[in-house]
Amino acid sequence: MAKAVRANPAHQPFVYPLRRAYAEPDWRRLPGYKNVSREQWENALWQRQHSVKNVRELKDALGRFLTEDLAEEIVRDQRQSATMSLLIPPQMLNCINERDLRNDPVRRYMIPMACDRHPEWPNHPKAARDSLHESEMWAVEGLTHRYPTKVLAEMISTCPQYCGHCTRMDLVGNSTPQVAKHKFELGPQERWARMLDYLRKTPSVRDVVVSGGDVANVPIAQLEAFVSALLDLPNIRDIRLASKSLQALPQHFLQDEVLKALERLAKKAWERGVDIAVHTHANHAAQVTPLVGKAARKLLEMGYRDVRNQGVLLRGVNGTSQDILELCFMLLDHAKIMPYYFYMADMIPNSEHWRLSVAEGLKLQHDVMGYLPGFATPRVVVDVPYVGKRWIHQLADYDRAHGISYWTKNYRTGIESDDPHALTRRYEYYDPVYALPPEGREHWRLAAAAAARRA
Ligand code: SF4
Repeated sequence: MAKAVRANPAHQPFVYPLRRAYAEPDWRRLPGYKNVSREQWENALWQRQHSVKNVRELKDALGRFLTEDLAEEIVRDQRQSATMSLLIPPQMLNCINERDLRNDPVRRYMIPMACDRHPEWPNHPKAARDSLHESEMWAVEGLTHRYPTKVLAEMISTCPQYCGHCTRMDLVGNSTPQVAKHKFELGPQERWARMLDYLRKTPSVRDVVVSGGDVANVPIAQLEAFVSALLDLPNIRDIRLASKSLQALPQHFLQDEVLKALERLAKKAWERGVDIAVHTHANHAAQVTPLVGKAARKLLEMGYRDVRNQGVLLRGVNGTSQDILELCFMLLDHAKIMPYYFYMADMIPNSEHWRLSVAEGLKLQHDVMGYLPGFATPRVVVDVPYVGKRWIHQLADYDRAHGISYWTKNYRTGIESDDPHALTRRYEYYDPVYALPPEGREHWRLAAAAAARRA
């Protein structure tokens, strides 16, 4: 007798197929873009020339949808709290729901409002500029050597868009009323030459993340020359180009000159047996549109090993498993972008309202398991100061009441060659204070008051 069939597609916490359409929102619905042609919209120069840099330009784009009170909240935030100046290409602005600006997830991280910030705890007492101490680990200016076999090359300190939560707020972008940005001291050619020289002399490094800022702001001939020189180094086996613009300004990657240069690099990498990939940064499903998919597919057709997404977990943007799974399926099904990491937000100043606790991060990791293929299931990672990335379930200990997680490591960063305790010490990461139980909040209140008295 045939065995009774029991398996059926049961009701699940996350519903697939997605309801969200994979379509470019019609930009002509926005008052400022109502007469913009497709040809203009798909032109990278037009996008850059019309990127929004201040509230007046935002008003020009959004018209009546940006009410006076919301505009005032944005101005107030820029004056009092923002660590990044405003810069958002029309392509990215078009991903925002203009009819619900206050709650829109993309608006919440690209165009912060003063009322978004936490009233009592805008900052964690341990928050700091350059919270990952990247510049302390520069082998030469802009080249962070933190892990044994891989480095981060910050080629440039600008981007075509500025994200409110940017972890490199210390260096990237224009100064704001709250933050005077640090500047590279050396000119770009000199810095890049020194990076290449260091890598030539350091055969233990096999992997280079070419980043910034955003590599889309490096003139393509210069980017090609730098990456091509990396490909000439026999020790370099992996290269990752980091660009949020693949999502925020895909038009950049669809220009003939850019495509030709990127194709030459893919060909050279293939001939040398080096893996070259592009990493981008989308935080919400609304950002995944056909133009993004078109740019990603071009890269894959050329022979890029992969296009991967590294998002950042942000409260009010993607803080639920529904948000994360929707984004990952949009990336995987449509744009052919591989979900890779979701970072816990770093402990930079004025970022508390976005940050999740480690307990929340652990729950998210649990809740997204089993839906996506294993190779496309993103890992939630904590970038622990003086350690580097740890998968969130690798924590060694966790004091939930005070919101302190403890982490260990198994290698020395570039500045610990003579530190006998580097591999036995426990390193700390802190949850947002407002997410703690009452005794934890009271602990940090007392600590903050004591620090204020000492100051
Ligand atoms: S694109 Fe990256 S480097 Fe540029 S502002 Fe955003 S997070 Fe920072």
